[in-house]
Amino acid sequence: MRIKTGDTVVVIAGKSKGVKGQVLKYSAKTNKVIVEGANIQTRHTKPRGPKNPGGIVKSEGGIDISNVMLYCSKCDAGRRFSNVVDSNGNKSRVCVKCNSKLDK
Ligand SMILES: [Zn+2]
Repeated sequence: MRIKTGDTVVVIAGKSKGVKGQVLKYSAKTNKVIVEGANIQTRHTKPRGPKNPGGIVKSEGGIDISNVMLYCSKCDAGRRFSNVVDSNGNKSRVCVKCNSKLDK
């Protein structure tokens, strides 16, 4: 499955299961995605001067790509997509359930 930055995905496993969000980052190296609003990790930082008062920093942690699915707006659910090449040679990802195209 190909996932690109900017895709909308649904988390299907782990503590953020059910969370839907946009892929902010995809790392092919680690096979992990950063999904907006999912797998939020809080870090407590110490104050370092007036510009950096410290406190609690929240940021999204990486999620294994096998734990997310591309979101189909027509199905309103996470779906499996297949790669389809049309007669013009244009590649697109198509929902296997409802046949709607992900890429416009
Ligand atoms: Zn669909």
